[in-house]
Amino acid sequence: MSKARDLRQWLAHLEATGRLAVAREGVALEHTLAAIAKRLDGRQAAFFPKPGGHDVPVVSGFVSRRAWIAEAIGVEEAGLLAAFRDAAEHPLPWREVDAAEAPCQQVVIDAGIDLHALLPIPTHSEHDNGPYITAGLVIARNPATGIQNVSINRIQAHAKDRMAILMLPRHLLAFYKAAESKGEALEVAVVIGADPLTLLASQAITPIDHDELEIAGALHGAPLPVVKCRSNGVRVPANAEIVIEGRILPTVREPEGPFGEFPKYYSAQENREVIQVDAVTTRANPIYHTIVPAEMEHLLLGSIPREATMLAHLQRSFPGVLDVHLSVGGVGRYHLFVKFKKLREGEPKNVILGAFGAHYDIKQVIVVDDDVDVHDPQQVEWAVATRFQADRDLVVIQGAQGSVLDPSTTVANGTYASDEPAPPHLQGIGAKMGLDATRPVVYRGHVFTKVRIPGEREFDPGRDLQGGAAVDWAAGRLKARA
Ligand code: MN
Repeated sequence: MSKARDLRQWLAHLEATGRLAVAREGVALEHTLAAIAKRLDGRQAAFFPKPGGHDVPVVSGFVSRRAWIAEAIGVEEAGLLAAFRDAAEHPLPWREVDAAEAPCQQVVIDAGIDLHALLPIPTHSEHDNGPYITAGLVIARNPATGIQNVSINRIQAHAKDRMAILMLPRHLLAFYKAAESKGEALEVAVVIGADPLTLLASQAITPIDHDELEIAGALHGAPLPVVKCRSNGVRVPANAEIVIEGRILPTVREPEGPFGEFPKYYSAQENREVIQVDAVTTRANPIYHTIVPAEMEHLLLGSIPREATMLAHLQRSFPGVLDVHLSVGGVGRYHLFVKFKKLREGEPKNVILGAFGAHYDIKQVIVVDDDVDVHDPQQVEWAVATRFQADRDLVVIQGAQGSVLDPSTTVANGTYASDEPAPPHLQGIGAKMGLDATRPVVYRGHVFTKVRIPGEREFDPGRDLQGGAAVDWAAGRLKARA
């Protein structure tokens, strides 16, 4: 059963279990807030009262461990990918409620909008071009079908009522291009302070016209309550904290960036599309969520839905694929570890090629046997150290499409020292590397048997250790108990 019906229920649960730290009042919105949140990310959620003197508090890092995300869904960590995949395959239509039943519309501001007066928007990294909304769910409707899409996009809040947005070539951009080609703006809502499951669902890798809010409903086990925006027709999660309503304007572009992104490097300044803000609605006493770029909350929200998608994709062709993991060191995107039950020699190389084809971000694939935990990078390295030979087990593909945010791809195409970014058709070109780190199917004796001590898994400190025992070191024997 989910412990995250809305953001506050989840934050209360984290606080009650010692996983929420409260910062001193008045932490500066420029750098200091993100610096503190970064240090706590992966260990505790951080709550900032009166940040920069602002009335609205900021929270960060409340989904910064895999185990917490599983807990929010109400499953064991080992069942996390299966639970997400099940929700993506069995979406639950949302349930529309009236404005009076929607906490996110308790306060409505539709005139004299000043985003920086209304919201505590932090500036995160050293070379960022000012304050950025990093945890905004951008919701828009397909102009052709009316079906909604949800994504998280970085949004630069550079004016009182205008924001620049980065749209990668996915569903939101397709909707915008369709509107712009008719000279029209695209209606959008930017939702801040959504519950953890809706945040996770927003990152599902699904075909166009699969509404991610329906995946959120499936993760919750109940239809997600949504409400119609005040100034446009977009439906937003009714239990959210803050909603910015607006339109992405046709033909308008304004400078955006630099901004420190998930690979822990900066994206350069480029001209981007612009959201004109028409209204801001909030709870009576809203809480603002910020994601610290490239930290665990950011990486996990992206990697868990991708892992679920990769696992489903690979299992369609290779039933021996048992588990996958996008490693943290590989920024939750680039390095895929695959646990595989090999029956025939050569199969791991087919798996490697299948993974390269599944998503262009995948740059390195390591296939290991079923005695290796792919969620433990130390075990994966052990498999490479003892089961891999580079002249025999290495696959290299040259000159393929990769992530445009991987700076080494610009080294490969020679544009790293240029003031001008490479033209789009030359961005993100790089090599793919696959490592078959599986042992032979047939081997003599125990040459490839992993050493195990019978009983090691059954160790029980309560049964096997003495609490309060002390040794008399002169005697070299246990002290008598008092
Ligand atoms: Mn989509």
